[in-house]
Amino acid sequence: METFDYVIVGAGSAGSVLTNRLSEDAGTSICVLEAGPSDWHPYIHLPAGFIKTFHMKSINWAYQQEPGPWTGGRSIYAPRGKTLGGSSSINGHIYNRGQRQDFDTWAQYGNRGWGYQDVLPYFKRLEKRIGEGDDAYRGRDGNLTVTTMDWQDPLCEAFMAGAISLGIPRNPDYNGAIQEGVSYAQRTIKNGLRVSAATAFLHPARKRPNVHVRTHAHATSIIFEGKRAVGVRYIKGGKGGTPVEVRASKEVILAGGTYNSPQLLQLSGVGSPELLGSLGIEVRHALPGVGEGLQDHYAPRTVARVKNIKTINERRQGLSLAFEALKWATTRRGLLSLSPTMVYCFWHSGESTESSDLQLTFTPASYKEGVQGQLEDQPGMTIASWQQRPESRGYVHARSSNPFDPPIIQTNYLAEELDRRTIVAGMKLARRLMASSPLSPYYEYEDFPGPGVQTDDEFLAAATQRGTTTFHPGCTCRMGPADSKWAVVDDQLRVHGLQGLRVIDASIMPRMISANLNASTMMIADKASDLIRGKSVSMN
Ligand SMILES: Cc1cc2nc3c(=O)[nH]c(=O)nc-3n(C[C@H](O)[C@H](O)[C@H](O)COP(=O)(O)OP(=O)(O)OC[C@H]3O[C@@H](n4cnc5c(N)ncnc54)[C@H](O)[C@@H]3O)c2cc1C
Repeated sequence: METFDYVIVGAGSAGSVLTNRLSEDAGTSICVLEAGPSDWHPYIHLPAGFIKTFHMKSINWAYQQEPGPWTGGRSIYAPRGKTLGGSSSINGHIYNRGQRQDFDTWAQYGNRGWGYQDVLPYFKRLEKRIGEGDDAYRGRDGNLTVTTMDWQDPLCEAFMAGAISLGIPRNPDYNGAIQEGVSYAQRTIKNGLRVSAATAFLHPARKRPNVHVRTHAHATSIIFEGKRAVGVRYIKGGKGGTPVEVRASKEVILAGGTYNSPQLLQLSGVGSPELLGSLGIEVRHALPGVGEGLQDHYAPRTVARVKNIKTINERRQGLSLAFEALKWATTRRGLLSLSPTMVYCFWHSGESTESSDLQLTFTPASYKEGVQGQLEDQPGMTIASWQQRPESRGYVHARSSNPFDPPIIQTNYLAEELDRRTIVAGMKLARRLMASSPLSPYYEYEDFPGPGVQTDDEFLAAATQRGTTTFHPGCTCRMGPADSKWAVVDDQLRVHGLQGLRVIDASIMPRMISANLNASTMMIADKASDLIRGKSVSMN
């Protein structure tokens, strides 16, 4: 059996950063197992390819969630990247770290070294910020290029003027001292191409002889000797392929993401004894928190019909699209270089709310049924609005002992009353923004939820009918003290009660943050690489 110092399961946002950092030491050998293929597909790298990779099963786990009590009986689609770079290879490229209080709350949960001042140096070390930003907060020398949306659009400008007219200030850098305000989105795009965690971190590391990346390698269980993880079993070639085992002389690291890391623990006998018993899986180590606590952002999308100007909906049709393709090929700019969201707006739902609890995004485009993936034909613009720090929690459970069965995903969106109240406040603000006077030359009428919706109950009903995930699941292997009932890993990200095993990905977040999760997941991995190596960050 082949032996490496570290075996990492998953080459996604976290796995790519970890591989890069751990392999800096030429004497350390690393094997990375990735269930998906290499990231060769051109749609991964073309920013507007997002709309294609969204449903592309060859590189996307394409999960379906369970219907929840507040999703109108609907099963909500949950895409996840299944290729080098993981979800960072199919995501919407937005770079958003979250705010100070997010990480200070993690520390308050009993996690030493995870407050904002502790994690800020890692955010800085990772990035190469091009554009506005105070160097007290922004990094200029990292691998991850972060630029600002460079597509100036009259509708976007009118939206931002509308926000200002409602008292929401323009913020030059929402990843700086203060998050609140409105601005063009910051993105992981360089020269009109996506910067995934793989392009920024994994591919440079693969040039080192101590890095061994195996694609089409679906990990099926962790190999234990007593309470120590010593390796991983995987199926080469996926379902129906060849079983293979690799050993880790130092550590096994799970970086399979929020849905897959808890599933792999459960398949390996680590989890709630009741759940494992019901699946016929022998209990290796009872740890009831595995898979519990799932959180995500839930967003209804307010759509208005547009007049007097072209939106993206029409610009991607017929000859216009051919022109845009030529433009991208020659200048790397234009429609095909765009992200699904153009403008970001952070605001609060009530005067007494201390920090922004609402995130709103604006796009001069609209989707069929309000779901990303298929643009409408007639002119439209969309404001997605969501609560930044929801309280509702759900779970991820293995469906069976078969590693190729998709896990059961129940997010319980809007189960908590505060979440329902905040989502309604967000939709009302979205309506006010759409109807603001700077947008009036272009605003024709509100298509969804529509003028018939007026009361809070009607807004809530609309939210349950059309809300979707914003693709930010986290918190299913939460970091916390050993004596808490829910924690799966300690503040060094070691699995409680076991040796030689860590979980390092978005699943370890103890609580949802005020942001999309790619930036913070890479931060987690970067910090974890120092914890593993016994290093501390050196920053100037
Ligand atoms: C459609 C979409 C849009 C998004 N938009 C944004 C955005 O604009 N900005 C933002 O910040 N965030 C966004 N996100 C979220 C962000 O990309 C993720 O939160 C982040 O990438 C999660 O990183 P991770 O390392 O936890 O998991 P992932 O990046 O998903 O990596 C997990 C990897 O593990 C592999 N894997 C899983 N199980 C196994 C197994 N058993 N064996 C081997 N390999 C396995 C997977 O194939 C995958 O490559 C989006 C996500 C999606 C899906």
